[in-house]
Amino acid sequence: MSSINFENVTKVYDGDIVAVEDFNLTIQSGEFLTLVGPSGSGKSTLLRMVAGLEDISGGTIAIGDEVVNMLPPRHRDIAMVFQSYALYPHLSVRENMAFGLKRSTDLPDEAIYDRVEDAAELMGIPELLDDRPKQLSGGQQQRVATGRAIVREPAVFLFDEPLSNLDAKLRKHMRTELQRIQKELDTTTIYVTHDQEEAMTMSDRIAILNHGELQQVGTPREVYNDPHNLFVAQFIGSPSMNIFDVTYEATDNGGRLTGDINIPIDAERAQQIEAVGATDLKLGIRPEHVNVSRTSGEDHVNAYIDIIEPLGARDLLYFTLESETDDDSLVSGDAAALEDEASPEGEVAERKAFIDPESISADAHEVYLDLSLEQADLFDANTGANIEHVVREEQEEPPTA
Ligand code: ADP
Repeated sequence: MSSINFENVTKVYDGDIVAVEDFNLTIQSGEFLTLVGPSGSGKSTLLRMVAGLEDISGGTIAIGDEVVNMLPPRHRDIAMVFQSYALYPHLSVRENMAFGLKRSTDLPDEAIYDRVEDAAELMGIPELLDDRPKQLSGGQQQRVATGRAIVREPAVFLFDEPLSNLDAKLRKHMRTELQRIQKELDTTTIYVTHDQEEAMTMSDRIAILNHGELQQVGTPREVYNDPHNLFVAQFIGSPSMNIFDVTYEATDNGGRLTGDINIPIDAERAQQIEAVGATDLKLGIRPEHVNVSRTSGEDHVNAYIDIIEPLGARDLLYFTLESETDDDSLVSGDAAALEDEASPEGEVAERKAFIDPESISADAHEVYLDLSLEQADLFDANTGANIEHVVREEQEEPPTA
């Protein structure tokens, strides 16, 4: 096991495609770090640079104390598990799992097969050792591919979307399995996925990428509760955060937000906004922080009920703000009318709230919503930065001499 250090790492393909830009991160020894981001954000490129499958255009990558930029893949002490399991069809599971070790070490066969048996035990597949890959289910092939990585006893595991080809139920099960095995072996791990839920459930820390740039790194709880910018806020969490376009103006006792919603804000928030100097804002509120209120009030908004999805312990309410439409047909949840409200990108802004199943009567068409600003985030609409985070960073910055 080893730490991994990225220092100012950049990757440019074909002279002008910047896939990764000035990436800095230290992954602790034994840590499970997930790289997450939309397709094309540079995750695989980063992983492949660690593996030595891709040249590094700038900066350095170190595994332990050793800078590996120029080191061939086989000397990097890593094992990689791909989305396509890349098993040899003509070899048995046992031979597939032994293959890498036989090539890369001069361990005697007996020691190699002992390791294969141990890894098969750990992966729960000892009875499959004499089968061929084509006799196995997708889940079993995935276990073989992971087992093959374990056998190598590498300093670092690299996983590239290893669960994408499995059905939803198996994927959830394998998440827990992989996490258990990683903890048991205590091997430093980089795991790539586009699935934020996978990232949230498996990782010690998550690094969120967009357009080749690191947006934020932190524990799942940190990135969920304290997103540093609008991208992270919207990418992490499902259903995603509700975003409202608002404009700030100062008042005698604080400030006021107007736009999608019209609500007063307290003096502390107003001060933060003024410190950053932003007036066009995005107000973000997670679905679990939107509460149904029985009464109207100054900081409550009126909303139409589009649909309510019962989920068991709680319901998911889809709503449209009264301010966003004056079309009466919306009261009956008319989907066509909703389409007309589409944003310029052609997407309907779906507003969602987790609610107590008892809180709305079955025949209700409208609700008052309390958008508890206590737990809301405010973002500068121009830069996407979280206002509170910007202010905190400025306060923490040591005074310049
Ligand atoms: P992700 O893994 O997040 O989907 P990638 O690392 O695969 O993203 O890709 C990042 C960017 O680099 C994308 O714009 C992609 O088109 C580009 N890219 C990836 N591989 C190559 C390549 N071999 N040649 C040229 N461009 C590439």
